[in-house]
Amino acid sequence: MEKIQVSASRKYDIIIGRDLLKDTGKYVSQVISPCKVCIITDDIVYGLYHHMVCSSLTDAGFEVFRFIFEKGERSKNINTVSSILELMAENDFTRSDAIIALGGGITGDVAGFAASIFLRGIQFVQIPTTFLAAVDSSVGGKTGVNLQSGKNLAGAFWQPSLVLCDCNTFATLTYEIFLDGVAEAVKYGAILDKSLFDLLMLHGDKLFNSSMVGNNDCLSDTLIQIVKQCVSIKRDIVMEDERDTGIRQLLNFGHTIGHAIEKCSNYSITHGHAVALGMLIVSKASHKLGLCQTDCSLDIENILMKFNFPITCPFTSEELSHIALKDKKRAGDTITLVLPESIEHCYLKKIDISDLKTFISAGL
Ligand code: NAD
Repeated sequence: MEKIQVSASRKYDIIIGRDLLKDTGKYVSQVISPCKVCIITDDIVYGLYHHMVCSSLTDAGFEVFRFIFEKGERSKNINTVSSILELMAENDFTRSDAIIALGGGITGDVAGFAASIFLRGIQFVQIPTTFLAAVDSSVGGKTGVNLQSGKNLAGAFWQPSLVLCDCNTFATLTYEIFLDGVAEAVKYGAILDKSLFDLLMLHGDKLFNSSMVGNNDCLSDTLIQIVKQCVSIKRDIVMEDERDTGIRQLLNFGHTIGHAIEKCSNYSITHGHAVALGMLIVSKASHKLGLCQTDCSLDIENILMKFNFPITCPFTSEELSHIALKDKKRAGDTITLVLPESIEHCYLKKIDISDLKTFISAGL
């Protein structure tokens, strides 16, 4: 078990290890005194892990309520948040009560946003159960929901009080869902850590089998190492730029176009798969248009193929640019993209919105 400390607008620990869920109550009570807690989870994770988490919290003296929503990006909306708020209000939750997000990135984003606005903010704990949530979304305090017009268009910065990451939960993921997390790990390698990029390249899809429960060989240790490496990078970035006005924007590598791909597919292409395509399109376009001297798209394409990601984008530059122009990263007539100079070195580039379609076209 390893502890990584974050010191942002709230100080908290990220605990990473195996077999942690059965002791959820013990870990949570170290940061939040026994109170009412609302476990927020989707219908899949509910069947897998809710019982263990709920019993442990009850044993530790918490009064447990639950809110279960239908899995998937279409539930990441303001109506789900509104139902959570009503449930807590009906059950007399107060400012000393808390939310527990048990699940993937969607659960964390929705639950964190509800925590940020209920009674103007209550504590919450992230318990990530996907590889994506473990390496990325459970840390850093970005919370929010999608609007009809696009991804993550409403939200708040609200840091958790604890992140409890039990890597045993990866054992029940499908390969497709595991891949979503791989895309974010590749992103961390590509923007800031070549050793991480090389580690992912070295093991490829063999890493997936290592997540099986009880498999304590060195590959599964490598998987945990990858979680720690990604989380440490994110911790450092968040501590330097919690509100996303500077270096944190590098974490958007592949995301502006990725979000457009998700939206164009009506969310049938999941976040990680869309980000993978987004990174590839941006890398190709940056080199073709002379914005980056090195052609990183070859490295990006190779690593994505090593994991068997689909690498063909089914949408046109017209479709993608139309949606991408509604992205949060747009400011007036420009939009900021993250471009790869080389693996481990990316930079922020403001593009005129009138050039976005040509840029995307060059990357397709
Ligand atoms: P997700 O939460 O939908 O989880 C993917 C699927 O895995 C779901 O069907 C879920 O039911 C299932 N699942 C979860 N844990 C499981 C387990 N242990 N075993 C079996 N099935 C399990 O999606 P995700 O990929 O975890 O997260 C994607 C979301 O995260 C997107 O909405 C994205 O915008 C957001 N995100 C947020 C941040 C942030 O900083 N806040 C960062 C990156 C991504």
